[in-house]
Amino acid sequence: GLAEKLQNTFKKLRGKGKVSEADVAEAMREVRMALLAADVSLKVVKDFVARVKERAVGQEVLESLTPGQQVVKVVYEELVALMGGTSSKLTLSPKPPTVVMLVGLQGAGKTTTVSKLGLFLRKQGRRPLLAACDVYRPAAVKQLQVLGNQLDLPVFSMGTGISPVDIAKGAVEHAVAHGRDMVLLDTAGRLHINEELMEELKSIKSSVRPHEILLVVDAMTGQDAVNVAESFHGQLGLDGVILTKLDGDARGGAALSVKAVTGCPIKFAGMGEKPDALEQFHPDRMASRILGMGDVLTLIEKAQANMDAQMAKDMEQRLRKAEFTLEDFLAQIQQMKKMGPLDQLMGMMPGMNKMKALKDVQIDDKDMKHVEAIILSMTPEERRNPQILKDSRKRRIARGSGTSVQQVNNLLKTFEQTRKIFKQFADMRGGKGPGKGPG
Ligand code: GDP
Ligand code: MG
Repeated sequence: GLAEKLQNTFKKLRGKGKVSEADVAEAMREVRMALLAADVSLKVVKDFVARVKERAVGQEVLESLTPGQQVVKVVYEELVALMGGTSSKLTLSPKPPTVVMLVGLQGAGKTTTVSKLGLFLRKQGRRPLLAACDVYRPAAVKQLQVLGNQLDLPVFSMGTGISPVDIAKGAVEHAVAHGRDMVLLDTAGRLHINEELMEELKSIKSSVRPHEILLVVDAMTGQDAVNVAESFHGQLGLDGVILTKLDGDARGGAALSVKAVTGCPIKFAGMGEKPDALEQFHPDRMASRILGMGDVLTLIEKAQANMDAQMAKDMEQRLRKAEFTLEDFLAQIQQMKKMGPLDQLMGMMPGMNKMKALKDVQIDDKDMKHVEAIILSMTPEERRNPQILKDSRKRRIARGSGTSVQQVNNLLKTFEQTRKIFKQFADMRGGKGPGKGPG
């Protein structure tokens, strides 16, 4: 399979201390072949390999990684990007019920997925109603009813002698009347895309205005799945895709191409026939599954931590030169919002965790917004030389930031304390006065 091939390619590469351009070229050739064999579309493969090559050549150097590992890291990141980067969730209607319409070819897994999704949503505290809109086979209605019964999920049906549009409308009304906040429409499929099918789906769409139209496609059909997605998207406008049967011997091509080709995110993945075998789709997890690499993730985290340590080191240099200003303070605070609490950030500075004095400078998250607003309300000059802040300036800043003069004073005090502690720390590490520390 795809995973195996890529893993072999990278095993060779990762072991190397040095990687030549020829090694990279060879690896990329193998990646290309593996992707094509996995039925990823040619254009997607070409673009992918080109991007990886470009990045692998001119890339930022992370000290803890070997060049071989860096290539793997780039491939991983590009795979994640290819699948949309982040995971996309269902859009919920501000006014319930949220109507989700599942469409797709026969046998793709719509009916099964409707019940799985019902279960998934109930676990999240929702109250889903399943609706049987496939009126062409009595067995289809029955199938949904049986699944609903097993899972104790209500199923709305009106038999088979009535139009799917009316059933869909009836289901929404029923949901409103019975306090159901999600309606999941199971629609009919055909063996192939045809006009009749599309017309029917379009009328359901225009009569109940679903908040989400999700295409269910069988991952095992590879590139066909992508073609189906393109065509449904063109006719109906999809909000996302659900890939089923990813548990099988899927070649992986569909998962890798759908987003790139159609622009529609994959929202869920079916991982088996059991009702609980539905997962939210996470591009990063899928990528690491493909590359078979808990270890690569750890590796990347380690590299990231190293980069942060580099940043901390730069900061230390500035401290040593006593250049720490309110602007740095603000940058730190903004950084913190991304990285976690202050003490954690300090933990990254070598030796900093031993600084008990730090306990005196606690800023909790609630104050954080005020601190940011206050500093943003200062002029650059004031941020660099807080000693020029006399009463009138403080009043102006307080007004500008929606705080009080006392809050401004508190901030200045905290900043002074922080600076002092940092300064002590820098001196201590340098063992000398400011500016004289090594390196
Ligand atoms: P529909 O015609 O689109 O409604 O498809 P069904 O829901 O009836 O599913 C067709 C077949 O695919 C059934 O046998 C399902 O059990 C099976 N199936 C659906 N999803 C998955 C999945 O994620 N993994 C596996 N292995 N089988 C699935
Ligand atoms: Mg069905």
